[in-house]
Amino acid sequence: KNVLITGGTGFIGRYLTKKLLERDYTVSILTRDRRPNTDKVSYYTWDVTAQNIDESAVYNADYIIHLAGENIAEERWTSKRKAAIRDSRIQSAQLIYDTLKKLNKRVDAFVSASGIGYYGAVNGEGICTENTLPADDFVGTVCQDWENAADLMVGLGIRTVKIRTGLVLGKNEGILKKLNPIFKKGLGSALGSGKQYMPWVHVHDLCMMYIEAIENGKMTGPYNATINDSTTNLIFSKELANSYGFSIWLPKVPAFLIQLVLGERATLLLTGRRVSSDKIKKLGFRFQFKNLPKAIKNCIK
Ligand code: NDP
Repeated sequence: KNVLITGGTGFIGRYLTKKLLERDYTVSILTRDRRPNTDKVSYYTWDVTAQNIDESAVYNADYIIHLAGENIAEERWTSKRKAAIRDSRIQSAQLIYDTLKKLNKRVDAFVSASGIGYYGAVNGEGICTENTLPADDFVGTVCQDWENAADLMVGLGIRTVKIRTGLVLGKNEGILKKLNPIFKKGLGSALGSGKQYMPWVHVHDLCMMYIEAIENGKMTGPYNATINDSTTNLIFSKELANSYGFSIWLPKVPAFLIQLVLGERATLLLTGRRVSSDKIKKLGFRFQFKNLPKAIKNCIK
């Protein structure tokens, strides 16, 4: 069977492609830049702003996994950047919906990325479940609208799953790509109070959850993808430093400095809540990387 991945060229998409190929799926990728096809991977192009899409990508798909989106951590959140973050996720889902409808095509499942930012850029002790209400801040609203766009597919009779993703750990990818150069030199330290929770997930487990979502007909609606082990920023920073043979001796980086450098994006680092993954576990799904030191070691070896 063929799995179409939007934004499949990114960090999560590349790992997911590898795992799908190991399971004998073929993979199609919707990208802004065409690349040469291989035996098992076909590339199709689209331009979300212009609402242009190579329809054969959708026509040939048995499942669709929607990962596309401008990177939320990369650039300062100007109003232009915020619009790009929104549109690349929401208008793109809309474009897929319009194409499915136009072609009168149905897929077996539509699975969309979402984020635990759904629950808001605040600190608190309560544990968020999939029933916790969304926040009305920037990331919370984007996640809500992104999930609503995914739910358009429900109207076509397509089983739809939304994966509310925590901080993804992978080999020199995502957050670790940014932190490794600092922690490698023994210069890492905690950020702000260090008490903010950092729900994390290893990219392997996240991708196994995506595969579960396409294969398990019982999965529908939102699922949190995090290890709920009450990791805080301080615990995470200590473990990362330890894995490079250092202990944290520097003072915590003050919140105001992070805000000065990152602007509003600082909320990504300075806030966090505990997030439960009981819903997916109740379906029998087992996370392979549940232990933070082991997950970090796996990512930096
Ligand atoms: P990446 O930034 O590595 O990849 C995202 C992909 O989206 C890119 O490869 C790009 O593909 C595509 N893309 C970017 N901008 C646009 C655009 N304007 N129009 C169409 N496509 C675009 O992200 P990840 O792999 O890390 O994340 C995948 C999804 O998971 C994202 O939606 C992200 O928000 C979500 N997520 C990730 C987390 C993480 O920690 N990594 C945490 C929570 C959620 P191309 O250049 O080929 O067009």
